[in-house]
Amino acid sequence: MLDVIDIGDRSLESYRGIAPDEQLDELVRVARRLRGARILHLNATSYGGGVSEILRACVPLLKDLGLRVEWKIIRGDDAFFQITKRLHNGLQGAPGELSETEKALYLGNAQLNAPHLSEDYDFVIVHDPQPAAIPGLVHRSGSRWIWRCHIDTSHPNPAIWDFLTPYLRIYDAAIFTMQNFIPPRFPIRRVGIHPPAIDPLSPKNLALPRELARRILEWIGVRLSYPLVTQVSRFDKWKDPLGVVAAYRLVRQHIPHLQLALVSSMALDDPEAWDIYEKVRAETADDRLIHVFTNLVGVGNIEVNAFQSLSDVVIQKSLREGFGLVVSEALWKGTPVVAGRVGGIPMQMPPGTGGLLVDSVEECAEALLHLLSHPEEAHAFGESGRERVRQHFLMPRLLLDELRLLEALSENEPVAAPTESPAHGTGPEEALLAGNVGH
Ligand code: UDP
Repeated sequence: MLDVIDIGDRSLESYRGIAPDEQLDELVRVARRLRGARILHLNATSYGGGVSEILRACVPLLKDLGLRVEWKIIRGDDAFFQITKRLHNGLQGAPGELSETEKALYLGNAQLNAPHLSEDYDFVIVHDPQPAAIPGLVHRSGSRWIWRCHIDTSHPNPAIWDFLTPYLRIYDAAIFTMQNFIPPRFPIRRVGIHPPAIDPLSPKNLALPRELARRILEWIGVRLSYPLVTQVSRFDKWKDPLGVVAAYRLVRQHIPHLQLALVSSMALDDPEAWDIYEKVRAETADDRLIHVFTNLVGVGNIEVNAFQSLSDVVIQKSLREGFGLVVSEALWKGTPVVAGRVGGIPMQMPPGTGGLLVDSVEECAEALLHLLSHPEEAHAFGESGRERVRQHFLMPRLLLDELRLLEALSENEPVAAPTESPAHGTGPEEALLAGNVGH
């Protein structure tokens, strides 16, 4: 059996007044045409990292729109996840090859998981490389298969890409975050470009009263009388935590009491994270102004929210990045960001918006020092970033992109007949459309 992730009900109506009205209205219209469709989201982990963040938010909203949606997690052991981590790195361009034994292990995992996907779905959305080989082993029974790639595959390592490509041929469509992430000789004809999005109503992103946020950070040992910069990221070489520490140390020559928080959650499918965690600890252990927090000591969504809300500047010094949800999360709280000019980050921070983009440790230090020394400019960056996120990177826009693609895929073949009643209650559409009157 695969793990089914069960999530409570949510209502799209609660986004009115937060996300743009026209997005909500259009979403309801498109969903009506797909009502009753059976959708499966399949990925490798239910927590830690951007994919689970997105699924956690979008699955209940799709249900509220009258679709029959499930979220399942594939099974895999440590050896499998070590291989898929290398696949992931290779797709982002890291050197190296998989041995024949490793390739066999990857395929063996797909063989193990495939028999558990025998139910009928109209659409199966397979996230990232871990489960990518499974569709080829499942009796298709009319499902349309979609590969959702969340990573920057613009310059994949050819050996890794050649290994994965045959498994992708069977898909009906693919989704990338950006046009230029589509790798050379891509075998899937229909491609959607859907930047990810954040959920403004999740505990991580809802407006936390300032005093409450202060108390949360003080309780875990951050001194708010001193300035604070934070990076919230998995311990991953592409997130460059040691580069963050180096940049921070340069800035501290000018701002001696500056604090740095590195906040990280350890994901199940991320064995490399422990090595990097140890390196970061070794580098920072004697420094009382550097705080390293993980989910293992109970730092979760509310704490992340508090860090993103109260930091003077949020850092995301990525060297490669699919999208970087953390950038939108910080901007949504009006906090300015200094971030690597890579992957999906510049799309969130076009020139003059949100903060400053950097290409090196030195530039990162300069940008931090500049924003910390010019609070009004920093504030204006935060405000423009918040509006950018509101227009482009909130969950309803992502759902709309996804449903439009599903609709296009079912053009010649209608999806399942509508159920007598939608999955939950009467669905949001009447309420939403009614809610729109007068807007
Ligand atoms: N995250 C978290 N706690 C942490 C570190 C990360 O909740 O300690 C969340 C973060 O808030 C964001 C997601 O994990 O929602 C990371 O997504 P992103 O796209 O930035 O990077 P990914 O991990 O997918 O490469």
